[in-house]
This record gives sequence, structure tokens and C-alpha cells, in this order.
Amino acid sequence: MTHTPTPPPSPGKPDLPTHSDHQLPATDFSTLSGAGRCTLVGAGPGDPELLTLKALKAIQAATLLLVDDLVSDAIVALATPGARVVHVGKRGGCQSTPQAFIEKLAIMAVQEGETVVRLKGGDPFVFGRGGEELEHLQAAGIRVDVVNGITAGLAAATSLGVPLTHREHAHGVVFITGHAKPGDTGTDWRALAATAHSARLTLVIYMGVSGARRIQDELLSGLPAHTPVAVIQNASLPTQRQAVCTLGELQRTLEREDLASPSVIVVGDVLQGLLALQQPLSQQSLRA
Ligand code: SAH
Repeated sequence: MTHTPTPPPSPGKPDLPTHSDHQLPATDFSTLSGAGRCTLVGAGPGDPELLTLKALKAIQAATLLLVDDLVSDAIVALATPGARVVHVGKRGGCQSTPQAFIEKLAIMAVQEGETVVRLKGGDPFVFGRGGEELEHLQAAGIRVDVVNGITAGLAAATSLGVPLTHREHAHGVVFITGHAKPGDTGTDWRALAATAHSARLTLVIYMGVSGARRIQDELLSGLPAHTPVAVIQNASLPTQRQAVCTLGELQRTLEREDLASPSVIVVGDVLQGLLALQQPLSQQSLRA
């Protein structure tokens, strides 16, 4: 075997890692002798091409897939023909499969040696209850791996060509739910509006359509009525629809355009350019 000495780094150039330095060990999603395993996989916003490679590998290795409603059929179709697919959202039959039942199903399957993939829309740790499932499975002694997915808010903004943190307009971004869990008083939208205004934050609101009227009214206490807003339904899917308006027009626009769940609502000056394209010149010059 010949050994070629590594040449010294050329002067003035940083000693960059080579391609082979980046080769991380691949994750093995197959079942180890008898013991099953469970992987919590983010399916992204819907477009199968937005899956991570790790997600694709996990889906293809699964013998049982427990699938949430927001996961597109095109992604479920990537599973191997022999895999069992159980829809545990509303499509599964009843209103929505109780969380405890889904977890029990996963635990039993792992104990029987199956390679279980719990497939969730977007990222499993962004409003996906992935954290709760992880805790319950771990408490049952199950080893759980988690694979990130592209969260809907990111995909939605990108589909409009909008950078959520364009530095001319925003110092940061807040992912926030418009739907609190039962017993929780929910978000203080007035406080959030004041902070978003002074700290120049973009708001990305998940599950906000049904509560949009209240969200609009309360945000208006701290944000100007002309703050740009975009509503994006079914981001990344062939059925994607969107509308761009002002905060003062949010509810009226939702009704007029008949936009419904699943949608994300983006609020902030990063949408200024897009809003300007929507408005007649007379309105633009009023605010200039
Ligand atoms: N874990 C998911 C969010 C689950 S909560 C994620 O990271 O994306 C469900 C909410 O996500 C929906 O009510 C909607 O607000 C948003 N959502 C999910 N998929 C979406 C899509 N394709 N387009 C727009 N919004 C979507």
C-alpha cells in the first residue's frame, strides 16, 4: 500500500476540512436482534422533496408507521410495500386517536421487535407534541431517536420568497401557537405585540386561523394596522394558497379568500416588499 503524505496547507489559506472529514457515521434504522426501536420522524410541510435524507431512510426501514394527519400521502407512499401504515389522526376513523393509545401502540410494537416510525408533520418538536411522546416512550424504557423535519412556518415563508429574519426588517422570529391547550390561558397577544414592535420580531403563528379575529384585535394594541401579514395554507403542497394583506385586514382577508387550516400566519415587516406588490400605487405612496 502506498502512502501519500498530506501536503501542508497552502500559505494564506485556512486549513479547511476535506470532503471525507464530513462523512458522519450513517444512522442505522434497522431493528437490532429482537429489540425493536422507535424513531420520531419529522415529515416536513408536505412536499416529499423537503424530507431530510435521515427521514427518508427511517421511513424506508420502518415495519410500522404511525402517521399523523398532516403527513402527505406522497410521503407515506415512500414506505416499503410490506410496512403497516396506521393513520392515527382524524383520517384514521374516529375524531382523533387518543394520545395514550398511540403511545401504547408504539410501545407494544417496539416490544414485539418492530421498527416503528412515528411520522409527524413538519418538525416533531415544533408544536407536534413530540416532546410528550418522547417522554412517555422513554418512561416505558423505549429507546427513541428523533429526526428533524422542516417546520411549516419556515417552508411557508420560503415559498413566498420571504426571509423571516431579513436584517433590514427583523432582529428575530417567534414561532407561536394560536391555540392553547385546554386549561391554559394562552398567549398574551398584547404583550407579544408590544415586544414584537420594539424588538423587531417576525411572528409566525401556527394554528391561528380559528382564533384570527381575536389575535388580530389584540395584536393591533401594539402593532400598526398597516403591518404586513401573510396567510399560507398547505405550504409546499400542490394545493398551496396564500394571501398577503395588512394586520388590520387579516380576518376579512381570511374570509374573503376562504383560507382555512392548516395555515400559518406570518406577521411583520419582512413582508413589506410582498405587500407593496399587492397594493395599488395610491396606497403605497400614502405610507411612504
Ligand atoms: N410540527 C408541525 C406543526 C404541527 S401543529 C410543524 O413543525 O410544522 C399544526 C399546525 O402547523 C397547523 O395548524 C398549521 O398552522 C401548521 N401547518 C402544518 N403543516 C402546514 C402546511 N403544509 N402549511 C401551512 N401550515 C401548516
